[in-house]
Amino acid sequence: KVSPRPLVAGNWKMNGVKRSAKTLGEIMEGYTPDLRARVDLLVCPPATLVSTFAVIALGSKVAVGGQDCHPKASGAHTGDVSAEMLTDAGATYVIVGHSERRADHGETDALVRAKAEAARRAGLTAIICVGETREEREAGRALDTVSAQIRGSVPPGSDAADTVIAYEPVWAIGTGLTPTAADVAEMHARIRSDLAALAGEEAAGIRILYGGSVKPANARELLSVPNVDGALVGGASLVAADFLAIAAAY
Ligand code: PEP
Repeated sequence: KVSPRPLVAGNWKMNGVKRSAKTLGEIMEGYTPDLRARVDLLVCPPATLVSTFAVIALGSKVAVGGQDCHPKASGAHTGDVSAEMLTDAGATYVIVGHSERRADHGETDALVRAKAEAARRAGLTAIICVGETREEREAGRALDTVSAQIRGSVPPGSDAADTVIAYEPVWAIGTGLTPTAADVAEMHARIRSDLAALAGEEAAGIRILYGGSVKPANARELLSVPNVDGALVGGASLVAADFLAIAAAY
């Protein structure tokens, strides 16, 4: 079986100002032809920087993405950004349903699915985030929780070009804690079979990223787990050398 081409994506969250273009420049410089041959690289800065970063990254093969989008293309939604606007700004990906948005903004699976559909409509690849809380894992409900999120958040007809899944246990984000390789393997296998039920043969090509405290020191172990097709990286993606070292684990 041929594995999908891996993707290492940086989620900058609410970090970054104009001078952070220096970090993007360092990432572009470190994305050598050798690394380019092995892994796709994506930086998702805050919305204010998407356009600037997309211009800077043009021709470098480093992709630029948004961190969220509204389900509608335009209208009376103060403060929101549409998928079409991200496309216009030069983005090619958008993260949807990150656990911080599910928690801070009460985003439901249905809303996340609508956002993923908006991303497809605008020609973006949606990175759909799922993951259990500590309570859910301790109660033995991690697999069922994530399966329900996949069924509820992934639009029907999703394919390898328009959809990426990011499994991010909420308790592993920004904490330095990570699941065991065996737990990651079990979850990613479950997600692959959930995707097969939704997307049939396309499921084999849909990339399933692991996210949550990925660092240079643990990247190789986490990224070599079966059905792990890349990483969604938060904190470590703000430091070019760390982000590149994670990508170089491939
Ligand atoms: C994230 O929020 O997507 C994430 C994985 O964060 P961190 O790498 O900082 O845990």
